[in-house]
Amino acid sequence: MPADHLVEVALPVPVFSTFTYSLEGTLPSPGTRVLVPFRRDERIGWVTGVGSRSEEIPRMRSVLDVLEDEPSVPEDILELARWISEYYVAPLGMTLRTCLPSVLSDYSRDFLTLLGSPDGAGTTRERRLLDALDRAGDPRRVRTLRKSLDMGSLWPEIRKLSARGLIRHEALPPREPSVRSRKVVRLDVWLSDLQARDELFRRSHRQREAYELLESSGGSMEMVHLLAQGGFDRSVVKALEKKGVVVVKDEEVLRDPFRNQAPAQPARLIPTRDQAGVLEVLTGSLQQKSSRPVLLHGITGSGKTLVYIELLREVVVRRNRGAIVLVPEISLTPQAVSRFRAEFGDQVAVLHSALSDGERFDAWRQLRRGEKLIAVGARSAIFAPVPRLGAIVVDEEHDGSYKQSESPRYQARDVAVVRASRTGALCILGSATPSLESWQNALNGKFQLLSLPHRVGGGALPPVRVVDLKKVWRREVGEGETSGVREGRGAAEEKAFSEKQSRAGVLSPELVEGVRERLRRREQVILLLNRRGYSNFVQCRECGEVWRCTACSVSLTFHRTTGRLLCHYCRHEEPTPARCDRCGSKDLSFKGMGTEQVERIVAETFPGARIARMDVDTTSAKWSHHEILGRVEKGEVDILLGTQMIAKGLDFPRVTLVGVVNADVGIHLPDFRASERTFQLLSQVAGRTGRGPLGGEVVIQTSLPEHYAVRAAIGHDYMAFAQRELGEREDPLYPPHTRLANVVASSPWEEEAAREAERGAAWVRKLAGRRHPGVEVVGPAPAPIEKLYGRWRWHFLLRCTSPGTLSALLLAFQQGFKPVGRDVRIVVDRDPVALL
Ligand code: ADP
Ligand code: ZN
Ligand code: ZN
Repeated sequence: MPADHLVEVALPVPVFSTFTYSLEGTLPSPGTRVLVPFRRDERIGWVTGVGSRSEEIPRMRSVLDVLEDEPSVPEDILELARWISEYYVAPLGMTLRTCLPSVLSDYSRDFLTLLGSPDGAGTTRERRLLDALDRAGDPRRVRTLRKSLDMGSLWPEIRKLSARGLIRHEALPPREPSVRSRKVVRLDVWLSDLQARDELFRRSHRQREAYELLESSGGSMEMVHLLAQGGFDRSVVKALEKKGVVVVKDEEVLRDPFRNQAPAQPARLIPTRDQAGVLEVLTGSLQQKSSRPVLLHGITGSGKTLVYIELLREVVVRRNRGAIVLVPEISLTPQAVSRFRAEFGDQVAVLHSALSDGERFDAWRQLRRGEKLIAVGARSAIFAPVPRLGAIVVDEEHDGSYKQSESPRYQARDVAVVRASRTGALCILGSATPSLESWQNALNGKFQLLSLPHRVGGGALPPVRVVDLKKVWRREVGEGETSGVREGRGAAEEKAFSEKQSRAGVLSPELVEGVRERLRRREQVILLLNRRGYSNFVQCRECGEVWRCTACSVSLTFHRTTGRLLCHYCRHEEPTPARCDRCGSKDLSFKGMGTEQVERIVAETFPGARIARMDVDTTSAKWSHHEILGRVEKGEVDILLGTQMIAKGLDFPRVTLVGVVNADVGIHLPDFRASERTFQLLSQVAGRTGRGPLGGEVVIQTSLPEHYAVRAAIGHDYMAFAQRELGEREDPLYPPHTRLANVVASSPWEEEAAREAERGAAWVRKLAGRRHPGVEVVGPAPAPIEKLYGRWRWHFLLRCTSPGTLSALLLAFQQGFKPVGRDVRIVVDRDPVALL
């Protein structure tokens, strides 16, 4: 029988084109899942449209199965994926996979169930299929049936039988494991192109299949599922482990705290005059067919959450439309999430990282069917299949977590703006410290600016006191001693000096006094230091040697709890040295204060105080954030100490003092956003106090009291900061005045990375010169972190004020430039959040 159609299919493989297949029967609509042959394998892909007949394809292969009658990818998500794929130059199939629950890209999850008796068969083929289902009793995998019946594609029969109501075809999520602990296999290395895979796996097809299955499940799978789904032997996983491609770990299964938690009572607050004013404008915008995105600039404690809630009430309850709420990290914002649940109960699907594949798929289906109308979640919730989308809220829109660091490297805030404008939904970006990109958009009228300039209940922003650390050190150790004159001071003296200095630098007398007073009054304190571990680095006093990661060009951090040195990038660990490798000296100094050390000093300074530390190391178990914040809320903690995690969205009225142990951390990073990030962090953490009738105060310790980011934070002056920073970004030119793409070439061999970066930059320069004027190529140069995960990194930047030009150039580059070096990978990061 001749093929009726050609279809284009997007496959989740790192190739920039779709693939053409032939297909018999009715043409499926775009977004339909199909099973196709690919290389030696079968793959799930998505129909993107009709294939072009003009192309000469010598060995046209045909679609094996059409897996559904109704496309699982809604039209607006398919459109969005297309946009992401073009803008962030990522293959469409990989992008679609990112947008969908993993169950949908896994053919082994497709099942058939017999609904009636097996007697309704018309043809012999139908009878064989029904008999097989009848014998099995349970739902059967389509894949297994196909193999055991050996009669080619079953799909014509499946269609006819489902149409007659005799069977049901559906994708089923994996069964939930009953154990409390499960072995999880996690990808540690992502191979971005086919060539890298060919090199690494060569003839080890099973390893490659296992790798690709893991990859298609978002990078991690439970061991049992991996083995069962792919029919792999454990030795395959072992081999991958040995190659360093995966890590296998026992992970504890914790109950999802949102699942059985009864929603709290809704607060039923009456909007203040400010809030009502903002809501009136927002409701007005809802009436219009297309409206500009809104930037809601509301200071900390101005009651932005209530605005979101009242807006959702309008959208969901009154207009019966759907909504998406993005928050930076679910685990860090339990308070806001509970408020949405309290107000809208079962209408809300909370999408968070601790959901199992099955739970995620369930939530997805409920949204897709319109059984729930509100999706609340982190970055990837922007892809929730919410029907009749009426509003998208992006809370804390400045937050760096909205940018995905793996391909597709999308920025969820920007995707939100695009999705809203295409579906006619209203988009609200809220923050006390908007990103300069959004601020600029508000200034030039692309966004509508709305403000909440006052705290709810008339409370003032807390007064900020600055403690100049340079003065503190001088006071503590005596004038002149800090000048760095080291001659004539013995090792012991030096040690005593630096310890005294660092101790004084941790808690100045002002801060100690402030904490003491709060403890006396039974109030609470938040202390911020944005650096984890005990000591930032270890150095030999004799020869100056610093302990570095073998795989990355960064120093190792000393963690006292584990007694080990740890790389914060690749997680490489080694025992703490007793002597110097180079000169043998035992005189090692541990420098640079981290949260572990602050915890110890705080405990010594305030015996009896109940301290909780919150950083990556204390929150590695899935719901430990929740647990710690719960204790703070119940008043079981006097001092909450931590990294930037504690700066986000917390609302505890009994916190009357916020202390920043050292505001300078990160301010000198070689990154154009370093000042912005410092300002945001200081402003956000300062905003955690003074939120109740008890008032509040902030103490910022810094050795840079004159730095404009610090000064603006002290004065709670966002506008002043934005104005100054916009000026700073004019020369050299940086966003928001221009668009940026960072191209990184990496290889285990430094000269290969350098050479390919040179070649890549030259390639781009040439093309830009010929066809894309207005693009400036900066570099190449070694990346600020020259080596990561054992790979040397060189990069160059593309600057251009026209986003369309940059898109065209980047696509041409990704398709046309082929690195030739040994194991060279090229990563294109558009609108990067960091250039490290
Ligand atoms: P933001 O997110 O802007 O920092 P929140 O939304 O957390 O502020 O609100 C700060 C506090 O003010 C919360 O405790 C909230 O319950 C309270 N609040 C907000 N709006 C009102 C209101 N209209 N009446 C009374 N309390 C309110
Ligand atoms: Zn030494
Ligand atoms: Zn490392």
